Amino acid sequence: MSDCLFCKILAGEIPADKMYEDDKMLVFKDINPKADVHLLVIPRVHISSLNEVTDEHDDIMTHMFKQLPKLAKEQGLKNGFRTIINTGKGGGQIVFHLHMHLLGGKSLPGFH
Ligand code: 5GP
Ligand code: ZN
Repeated sequence: MSDCLFCKILAGEIPADKMYEDDKMLVFKDINPKADVHLLVIPRVHISSLNEVTDEHDDIMTHMFKQLPKLAKEQGLKNGFRTIINTGKGGGQIVFHLHMHLLGGKSLPGFH
């Protein structure tokens, strides 16, 4: 996906503040944080949104979800964290490479 922003971050073509990476996923700081901690968790493989997730992504999806508590703890979020996945224009998705927002800290925003 040559014109995908997050694929470019994965390829190192655009810099990002990387927090964790492995063979399946990358975690980096959101450029416009909405909370004290605001990370983006993305699969290495290009999946446009949750709408495009299929059975072949089971391993990746499970892996990403299971990393979230560990990532939150590493960020010092001892009392919990929020995970958001915006899907499609109606869901507020702006970047069409599947990503989970990992949010936490004192200034955690509400849902309004
Ligand atoms: P969405 O609305 O698609 O769920 O969220 C996209 C997120 O990507 C937004 O929170 C936005 O701040 C973040 N973002 C957009 N462009 C960049 C970028 O170039 N670098 C980083 N680190 N985050 C970005
Ligand atoms: Zn992509």
